[in-house]
Amino acid sequence: MKNPRTNPIEIDGEEFRQIGYQLIDDISNFMNQIDKKPVTYNRSPSEIQKVIGTTSLPDNGSEASELIAQATELLLNNSLFNGHPKFMGYITSSAAPIGALADLLAASVNPNVGAHILSPIATEIEKQTIKWLREFIGVPSDYGGILVSGGNMANFTAFLAARTAKAPLSVKECGIQNSENQFTVYCSKATHTWIEKAVVLFGLGTNSIRWIPTDVSNKMETSILESTIKEDIENNFTPLMIVGTAGDVSTGVVDNLNEISVVCKKYDIWFHIDGAYGMPAAIIPELKHVFEGIEEADSIALDPHKWLYSPLEAGCTLVKNPCHLTDTFSSHPEYYNFSKSEDEVAQNFYEYGLQNSRGFRALKVWLSLKQLGRSGYRKLISEDIQLSKMLYDLADNNPELEAISQNLSITTFRYKPKDRAENLEYLNKLNETLLNALQAGGEVFISNAIVNQQYCLRACIVNFRTSEKDIEEVVDIVVREGKKVHCELSKTFT
Ligand SMILES: *Cc1c(COP(=O)(O)O)cnc(C)c1O
Repeated sequence: MKNPRTNPIEIDGEEFRQIGYQLIDDISNFMNQIDKKPVTYNRSPSEIQKVIGTTSLPDNGSEASELIAQATELLLNNSLFNGHPKFMGYITSSAAPIGALADLLAASVNPNVGAHILSPIATEIEKQTIKWLREFIGVPSDYGGILVSGGNMANFTAFLAARTAKAPLSVKECGIQNSENQFTVYCSKATHTWIEKAVVLFGLGTNSIRWIPTDVSNKMETSILESTIKEDIENNFTPLMIVGTAGDVSTGVVDNLNEISVVCKKYDIWFHIDGAYGMPAAIIPELKHVFEGIEEADSIALDPHKWLYSPLEAGCTLVKNPCHLTDTFSSHPEYYNFSKSEDEVAQNFYEYGLQNSRGFRALKVWLSLKQLGRSGYRKLISEDIQLSKMLYDLADNNPELEAISQNLSITTFRYKPKDRAENLEYLNKLNETLLNALQAGGEVFISNAIVNQQYCLRACIVNFRTSEKDIEEVVDIVVREGKKVHCELSKTFT
C-alpha cells in the first residue's frame, strides 16, 4: 500500500505479509504442540517483570517484525495455557482456533459495532449470532439481545433491564432514590459474585440481596424463596428480580427453573437466569429436562467464551422483550446521524447495552457456530460431560480418593487417606495444600470448591483437547502428589 504520508505506524504490504506468515507459523506450531508444554510455568510476578524488562516508556520506536517475534516468545514461554488438554480450572475453555483467525480478521477491518451505519455487515452478523444462540439453547423467537464482554457484563445488562422494567417509578427520570423503591433481589447462596457487584454498582446496596438457602442438592429452596418474598412485600419492599442459576460455578447444579418461574409470575417479579457456564448444555437432548422453564425467563445470560469455546471475551444477554434493553440503554444525542432508512429499521447496538463503541466479537462466535453446527457442539459438549463423569467414576473407584459431586461437566473430589479419613480439618488442610502443589507443579491445572464444608478439588471440563488419557493421567498425578503432601503434612499437623 502506498501512503503519501510517511509515518511510523503503517506496515507496508510485503512486510505485513512476512511478519504475518511467521506469526501464523509460530501460532500453528504452538497449537499443535500445546500438550508438550507445562500447563503453567508458575513464575512469580517479579520473575515475569524481569522477563519483560522494567524500562521506561521508549522514546523511539522499534521494528514491528522484531516486536512481534519478541511478543510471541514472551507469551509462549510465560503464560498459563488454558488450551492445554490438562487445564480444567475454574470455567475457562480452550479457545477454538477459528476464533483466533476471526479476531485477526475482525481487528483488521475494525468495524465499530455500536451503529449499523458504521458496521453494516458486522451488525447483521451479530444479529444472526444472537438469533442462533437463542436457537442453540431453545428459547422462542421473541428473545433478542446483545453480545458483551462476559458473564458479569451479561448479568449486569439484564439486571439493569430488570430495574427499568420493574421499578414503580421511572428509573430514567427519578433515579432509584425515592421512597417508592425499596428494591430486593433474590438468589441462592450458590450464585456467582456478579450479583454483589451489581447491587453495589447499580445503587441497591448489599442489604437488598436475599440469599435463599439451597437444598441438599444445592438448588434454591423455592418454598423459602416464596415465604421470603411474601414477608418482604408485607414490609413494603419491592421485589425486583429472582436469579435462577443454570450451572453454578462450584458444582454445576441447575436450579429448579420451572418452580422459580411460577413464583416470578405469581408476584410479578423479573425472572433472570444466569446460565453463563451451563446454558449451552441445553442443546443436549437428554439434558433438556434439566433446563425446563428457560423459556419463561425474562432474561438469560450465557458466555460463548465458556462452553462455546470462543476466545475471550464473549458473553451474551438475551431478553424476552428486547424493548426493555432499549428502554434502559437508548439515547439519541444530536451528534449521532444514525438515521433509519425509509422502510427498514437499522439496529444500532449502542442502544442495547452499556457500551458505545463496540468491537466485532460476534465474528468468532458466529464462525464457530458455522464451523461446528448444532451436531458439532452437541458432540463436544456431551464428550466434555462424559469425561467429567469418567473422572468421577475413577475417583469413586480409587481407594485414596473420594468422589463428591458430578453435574454438567464439573466433578469435585478429594484426596482421602485411610488413616485420617474421619478428620475433616485435616482433610481440608491436606486438600488445600495438595491443590496448591498441583497448581504450582504445572502438570495439571484444577481448582477448588467447598462442598458441605469439605475442601474439594474441582475439575471443570470445557476443553475440546482433553481426552480419556488426560483424565486417567490427572487421577494418577493427584494420587501421586496426594501421597507426598499427606506424608509431609501428617508429620506436622496436630
Ligand atoms: C463465569 C460465570 C460468571 C462470570 O462470567 P465472566 O465471563 O467471568 O464475567 C457468572 N456466572 C456464572 C454462573 C459463571 O459461571
